[in-house]
Amino acid sequence: MNLAEYKGVFVFAQQVDNKISGIAFELIGKGKDLAKDLNTEVTAVLVGSGVKELADQLAEYGADRVIVVDDPELKEYRTEPYTHALASVVEKYKPEIFLIGATAIGRDLGPRVCARIHTGLTADCTQLDIGDFPLNPMPGREQKHNQLLMTRPAFGGNTIATIACPEFRPQMATVRPGVMQKLPREAGRKAVVEEFNPGFTPNDKYVEILDIVKAVTDTVDIMDAKILVSGGRGMGGPENFKILEELAEAIGGTVSCSRAVVDAGWKPKDLQVGQTGKTVRPNVYFAIGISGAIQHLAGMEESDIIVAINKDESAPIFDVADYGVVGDLNKIVPLLTEKIKAANAAKNQ
Ligand SMILES: Cc1cc2nc3c(=O)[nH]c(=O)nc-3n(C[C@H](O)[C@H](O)[C@H](O)COP(=O)(O)OP(=O)(O)OC[C@H]3O[C@@H](n4cnc5c(N)ncnc54)[C@H](O)[C@@H]3O)c2cc1C
Repeated sequence: MNLAEYKGVFVFAQQVDNKISGIAFELIGKGKDLAKDLNTEVTAVLVGSGVKELADQLAEYGADRVIVVDDPELKEYRTEPYTHALASVVEKYKPEIFLIGATAIGRDLGPRVCARIHTGLTADCTQLDIGDFPLNPMPGREQKHNQLLMTRPAFGGNTIATIACPEFRPQMATVRPGVMQKLPREAGRKAVVEEFNPGFTPNDKYVEILDIVKAVTDTVDIMDAKILVSGGRGMGGPENFKILEELAEAIGGTVSCSRAVVDAGWKPKDLQVGQTGKTVRPNVYFAIGISGAIQHLAGMEESDIIVAINKDESAPIFDVADYGVVGDLNKIVPLLTEKIKAANAAKNQ
């Protein structure tokens, strides 16, 4: 493999039902940082059927070029034709870096593509940088420059590992939604749009979709909430979440929770914050009866303001909290709700 042939930062611009997923814009945002360090451009790869007109949106969020792979076989996501589309793009355009969202689709697609084109993939990265690898010079080992340094939690989240792929290209990583930030939209910004179709011949690996049943949910996506009122095992039981719902209602927030709560069956997985749940970045995050395990912090420490309520003053959540209250949540939360309601009433008079 001639590594010098591989150039540019590529991102998979995931779309579902011809609507671009937020992760595509987030990856473009991060891709721009990396591309700047490498003095190159960001290319978004848009795969689907009848998706060409979505290219402008990708340009407005920073894509310099959009490669559109448009074919009726790509209408709904299926592993085989999408893998063929992406592997063919890599073979033709030879990107140096390829980023994919760690969504349900990306987690299926990324490993399949990297196996087919014979490179590595680092899953669920929380940080991406360009730098030297090995990080520190080692006797007898060449230190390569301008490598993609992919950082992610390792060993069950108890340590952080930085991984590189110095011998193969492209360097591939998946990133969970909510971890990177999209750029502000620049209306009217244009990208070079290129159409590419490697040809799709159905074979016995093309799954036949008989029916699509969409899950109906009446809960707000916690990733979109501006204020989250999050409860942990310290809540003591599912019935006690009522006091969190009352607090959330008083301040216009949404209830979320730790994994201990989901494991206990008190709340659905959709509401879980953390390494194996969702990554959130609200304006205000209340951590109530949550100890602050590293796997929980991984999903919320980028929140603008963190308020912790815990009866244990040595709980690690206080290390990341902007405001901390040490005491029994059963007393503090209703009192807080009462004060907020009184303040709201005074404002509305
Ligand atoms: C691979 C892996 C992935 C993981 N992913 C996640 C993840 O995505 N999200 C996640 O949250 N966890 C995750 N975990 C689990 C994580 O390690 C912790 O076990 C979990 O976060 C603990 O949840 P908790 O803080 O609610 O409970 P605990 O750690 O039991 O903390 C409860 C807290 O409540 C306080 N408390 C108790 N009673 C009261 C009271 N009356 N008033 C005030 N405070 C009180 C206690 O002092 C304590 O600090 C993961 C673990 C592993 C190994």
